[in-house]
Amino acid sequence: MKIFAATLVTETNTFAPSPTGLGGYAAYGIYHGDASNVVPDGMLGLGMVELHRLAAAHGHELVESLSTMAQPSGRTVQQVYEGFREEILADLRAALPVDAVVLMLHGAMVAEHCDDCEGDLIESVRALVGEAVPIGVELDLHCHFTERMRRNANVIICYKEYPHTDAIDRLREVFALTVATAEGRIRPVTAVHDCRMVGIWHTTREPMIGFVKRMQSLEGMDGVLSVSFGHGFPWGDVAETGARVWVITDNDEVKARRIAMQLGQELWEMREAARPVVLSIDEALDRALAGNGGPVVLADVADNPGGGAPCDSTFMLRRLVERGIGDVAFGCVYDIGAVQMCREAGGGARLTLRIGGKSGVSSGMPLDLRVTVRALADEHEQRIGGAACSLGSAAWVSTDDNVDIVLVSVREQTLAPTAFTDLGVELACKRIVVVKSTQHFHAEFAPIARDVLYVSTPGALTPDFVNIPYRVRNLNYWPRIANPFGDLPLHDRSPNHV
Ligand SMILES: [Zn+2]
Repeated sequence: MKIFAATLVTETNTFAPSPTGLGGYAAYGIYHGDASNVVPDGMLGLGMVELHRLAAAHGHELVESLSTMAQPSGRTVQQVYEGFREEILADLRAALPVDAVVLMLHGAMVAEHCDDCEGDLIESVRALVGEAVPIGVELDLHCHFTERMRRNANVIICYKEYPHTDAIDRLREVFALTVATAEGRIRPVTAVHDCRMVGIWHTTREPMIGFVKRMQSLEGMDGVLSVSFGHGFPWGDVAETGARVWVITDNDEVKARRIAMQLGQELWEMREAARPVVLSIDEALDRALAGNGGPVVLADVADNPGGGAPCDSTFMLRRLVERGIGDVAFGCVYDIGAVQMCREAGGGARLTLRIGGKSGVSSGMPLDLRVTVRALADEHEQRIGGAACSLGSAAWVSTDDNVDIVLVSVREQTLAPTAFTDLGVELACKRIVVVKSTQHFHAEFAPIARDVLYVSTPGALTPDFVNIPYRVRNLNYWPRIANPFGDLPLHDRSPNHV
């Protein structure tokens, strides 16, 4: 069997100030059929390596096309998206006939003139391969699961875990179901339930730990092939933004509908319990200072570049300085100019440094701080599992109150303690560690944290789901509307489509 595969990944914050151009993708790599050669150093090729392994194990041929990804930001430049799409289609045309297609996508990619890049791409692939060739797709759970995607793919599975620790596990399932479809062993049908909810769900605590297990308990039995909960990406203003459950069965549409609706109802009932607890800056600082014994990790959730934020906001740092709080590690602040000034000054130098607040109004005002340059690195990185993630040239500076700040020249969320410790910043002795991340930091930081608190800072990803200024998405969603289903009885509450 000949299987065609490609990777195209970004998550578009339509409210973010910076467009995503070719440079955003080049920063992670743009590989024309050879991404699997770049691992183990980079994260981009990991999925493609796994597909090669699976194909070889089952005696199949894998044709590898484009692989690229970009740090989330604003809309992708239209010609950049179209260039990627046409490269994938040209490779596919050259590879025809193929028996199956596997696409590793995000599900929340928006270009200047296309609100549903993944739906557009899958539809274009379908047009080339025809109805008989199965298309399997893996998505991030922060996806807009659109009707266009569902109509044109046979199997769509999204991650179940946030942080996304299960990407390879879900890819194996996509592969297995896509191959089984190509071999005629199954006939997948998908039913969708629109939860009419917009929010963030952490699968690191109850009730979501239990909900993930609940989904998995249904899979592989009684003709249920796969269950996905797409959380949605709240900061993408497109028509189908929001949470959705979808269920794939082996040719049993009624059962798929029933289970999707049942799970949607369970999510609705646990909505308050599942809602992340988010504190104000002062509440979080007070709680962090109240106890002893190791650092409390505070997530600066609104400035997470993984959701498209600039990563140079100063709201948290300003408050720490104003309150004279010391024994703090703060990072990573994306500030190329400040890094360059530190490099010019040299290690050990004392200077007044203007930090952050440069990208736009969502970053707040810059802070002018008297600091000591404690360390410099030409090629700083953080390591997650076996993979390395570049932070570019970097500097560690300390204020006189012992606030250690890591400045970087690659806009990347803070994912691992090595972002600090590889520069020499000790974390065990800190009272507070602030990370610019919404939730992905949790996997690596929770083990060293006395507690983990989420802070509602101002910024590009403020977790105020009631007031997101949607213009495209309709406003009939929880929590903006207490009951977006109105008086509809349960059996009429969607699925909007099957
Ligand atoms: Zn995600």
